[in-house]
Amino acid sequence: MTLDERPGLSGLTPESLAAWLAERKVPAYRARQVADGVWGGSTESIDAMLTLPGSLRTELDGAFRFDTVADTELTEADGGLTEKALHRLADGALIESVLMHYPGRSGSRERHTLCISSQAGCAVGCPFCATGELGFGRDLEVAEIVDQVRLASRRLTAAGRRLTNIVFMGMGEPLLNLDRVLAAIEALNDPRRFGLGARHITVSTSGVVPGIRRLTALGPQFTLAVSLHAARDPLRDVLVPLNRRWPVAEVVAAARDHAAATGRRISYEVTMIGGVNDTEDDAIAMVALLRGDHAHVNLIPMNPVAHTPWTASPMRVIERFAETLRDAGIETTIRRNRGQEVGAACGQLAAERAGEPPAPAVARRRARLVTESAAALLGERSHEPAPVGVGE
Ligand code: SAH
Ligand code: SF4
Repeated sequence: MTLDERPGLSGLTPESLAAWLAERKVPAYRARQVADGVWGGSTESIDAMLTLPGSLRTELDGAFRFDTVADTELTEADGGLTEKALHRLADGALIESVLMHYPGRSGSRERHTLCISSQAGCAVGCPFCATGELGFGRDLEVAEIVDQVRLASRRLTAAGRRLTNIVFMGMGEPLLNLDRVLAAIEALNDPRRFGLGARHITVSTSGVVPGIRRLTALGPQFTLAVSLHAARDPLRDVLVPLNRRWPVAEVVAAARDHAAATGRRISYEVTMIGGVNDTEDDAIAMVALLRGDHAHVNLIPMNPVAHTPWTASPMRVIERFAETLRDAGIETTIRRNRGQEVGAACGQLAAERAGEPPAPAVARRRARLVTESAAALLGERSHEPAPVGVGE
């Protein structure tokens, strides 16, 4: 089978679409009709863009793909409140997106949040994360990022609903594919294209300091979430290997500058792993790191991942951790993980498809994690190098 190398239509900027049409002597007003077909929410193919003449539809179809995530498998969990989509891309790479429905309660409106991927796999290699286990595949194209959104949005529109929030918390490290992620956000934000307000978009990073600094220079954009997981370097070296390159104090300093420059609060995410990062000492270290910051901490019980020896912290331990933070004036929320039945946390479904590694490899990996986290609890920093392929 030959690869379909036509670029995704949704990856075109309005300027490049206008130029493409002008080259073919197509009147400029057609650009609006093409954009309506791409972003309107009810059209399913280039062929169905009936406001366009047939010849233009044929030409567009020869040059572009309407949908780069057309090959998608859906699974439901939580009684239909969570929908997981596994997308097979043109080159066979597997990525995923997860749509979560939050019914409206008294005083709050219903929300429909989509969690999307920015890369196939991830080079950072956090050991509790199924995507990290896969290793790095490739960066996603702009169209492959926004098409996850268009697909979910079309499903919602058909059901008389509307997508309200987008979070870059699927597979991949968005700040290591920053040019394309920024172009995708521009498309999602642009009133002439998807038109979702920047406040409804969250980008999560494991702590790519130059990327955070670049976002700060760009000014207020969207909400920045930082995956903290541990406040002490020895433990964070193990949980987020990128910490060996940009230690936690540098990450928090960059996040602090971002909050000061943009006036937007930083969200810190902490995946709670039983007996590993949930001790009273860890809570105290986190207080020392974040006290007085314009920040919000989310504590999230770890979703089980097959290749680790770890499980979620017990709820009473998470509650005690939260109390220590709150007593120090740090706003803290405990979140329940969605879609565990379909492995909705960060890359789990695609990881299952990639196949189980051999049992001895899993056993070695588990043993190494036990040794490393025990050493980290005693305050020893990792001697492993930082992950490769994560930029300068
Ligand atoms: N690479 C980015 C964004 C994608 S990961 C980042 O790390 O921030 C999105 C979130 O899912 C991160 O906060 C990550 O720590 C969390 N996550 C990964 N594996 C998880 C697991 N097994 N259980 C709970 N949360 C997990
Ligand atoms: Fe990559 Fe984020 Fe998973 Fe870490 S948690 S391996 S940074 S996707």
